[in-house]
Amino acid sequence: MARNSNNVCKLCRREGVKLFLKGQRCFSEKCGVNRRNYPPGQHVRPKKGTDYGTQLREKQKCKRIYGMLERQFQHYFALAQRQKGNTGENLLVLMERRLDNVVLSLGLAFSRFDARQMVAHGHVYVNKQRVDIPGYLVRPGDEIQVKGDDKLKKKATDAIEMNKGRPLPTWLEAVPTELKGRIVQLPKREDVSAEINEQLIVELCSK
Ligand code: SF4
Repeated sequence: MARNSNNVCKLCRREGVKLFLKGQRCFSEKCGVNRRNYPPGQHVRPKKGTDYGTQLREKQKCKRIYGMLERQFQHYFALAQRQKGNTGENLLVLMERRLDNVVLSLGLAFSRFDARQMVAHGHVYVNKQRVDIPGYLVRPGDEIQVKGDDKLKKKATDAIEMNKGRPLPTWLEAVPTELKGRIVQLPKREDVSAEINEQLIVELCSK
């Protein structure tokens, strides 16, 4: 991904927020945003914005953070609407429950892209069954494990090492030595670390 002279990646600068697209780099001093005391894009693209524009931007940001296309996003939104409770919160919880997100949150991958590849290439097992659908929704009690040849195991081990020190979400339990983890409970809104105003998304998508 292209970066400007401040070392802020192009998409983060455009969306004006940290999108966490570069794995450990996003948590390190190498991330240009960490070195600034104002949000990325703030002085690059000042805008007053219409309500619609603000809502659309929030939706795009959410899609980029979780790496989704519009059709997938609409699928999750429809699902969130059908569930009981707050649609916006339901939406974020659904995103968190995606298998690629869980692999990343467990620290088994370097980046979201990497986590998605691992799943798509059949290296991730849920309850001992291979699952190659990155958008598979995990449930409480599910056991997630990365399996593969020595090269793959080394990669996952290196990722764990790199992710050391990053807090594990409370809804997950990790067993790094076995490259696996468990879903303790469903995530709650407060478990979503990404800065997303889900209400803006609901306002847009409910029109
Ligand atoms: Fe780049 Fe990650 Fe920082 Fe965004 S959060 S600017 S993707 S390093």
